[in-house]
Amino acid sequence: MADRRLAKKIWKYPNRLIETRTENPDLIQDIWDGKLCDHLQCTGLLDIRHGDLGFLFSTDEVKLFNRGYFSVWPLLIVNYNFPPDEHVKEENLILAGVITGSNQPADMNSFLQPLINEFHTLEKGISVWDAYRQQDRMLWGFLFTIAGDQPAREKLMGILGQNTKYYCGYCKIKGVWNRHNYCCFTTPTDAPDEVLRHVANPLKLPLRTNTEHRKDAHYIMDTNDKEYREQTGIKELSIFLELESVVFPWSFGIDIMHLLYENIVKQMFNHWRGKFFIHEKTEETGSKPQKFKQSGEPYCIPKAIWLQVGKVMKRSQHTFLGLFDDAV
Ligand SMILES: [Zn+2]
Repeated sequence: MADRRLAKKIWKYPNRLIETRTENPDLIQDIWDGKLCDHLQCTGLLDIRHGDLGFLFSTDEVKLFNRGYFSVWPLLIVNYNFPPDEHVKEENLILAGVITGSNQPADMNSFLQPLINEFHTLEKGISVWDAYRQQDRMLWGFLFTIAGDQPAREKLMGILGQNTKYYCGYCKIKGVWNRHNYCCFTTPTDAPDEVLRHVANPLKLPLRTNTEHRKDAHYIMDTNDKEYREQTGIKELSIFLELESVVFPWSFGIDIMHLLYENIVKQMFNHWRGKFFIHEKTEETGSKPQKFKQSGEPYCIPKAIWLQVGKVMKRSQHTFLGLFDDAV
């Protein structure tokens, strides 16, 4: 905050978004316009106009060599007060630590505790010299979101996760057990008799809430109730429960890098345009061997449905963050 240029930049960006939003309340340009920040403002924790800081914490296992198991877990902090095209630039990233070793960290929390302590201090506010406004002032900073791949996210949320009955960290939908966990909205008609049947409406899933998660996690910690652990899908007390700004499960959204399988984006795009199965064309030219064809098996989705999915995807464009430019 002692650097005038930086102090101006991190104050101005979120405030500029608020001004645009006053003119167009439905516009969601960045995390500052979203439900999470609205909630934190309503609870009186966050004050965007005052110049509060918002952060993302991200970690993932990175293999350093092609051979062997040696890997590192960088503990990265991203400052949301910079515009999206700047907040992941090397000079703006904060490397809070690196966990090294040939095994996965057995006790992740022990590495994260110093970081959580820092955020505790920032949540309460610290006194700083603001070079932009040329005054001493209180500065608050909050951890908004935590990102990682699915196993890392489950670890950080303290949930049992995949391969367990209540596998989803966002809702309380149940899996169907038949030698392994099958995650479906409707129990298949040919499921074994002993399987409890359910039909879930994907538009009205029983969502998890912050209050309930916090209560259940503390209860499990106090009682070590195995049955209740299985019923709720909560494994242990996440270290992030110590921070008021972390809202379960909203703060653990799936970041775009882990939302899509990167190597199939092109194929999916072709499916949505009904252009994945192009065997007619390749048969004619004979230039390329036919790789995929529609077999007519029940699992093979017909072209008409793919086109319908494509139309729905197109209609959802307005929900994409405006600052990231064109949705495609
Ligand atoms: Zn779910």
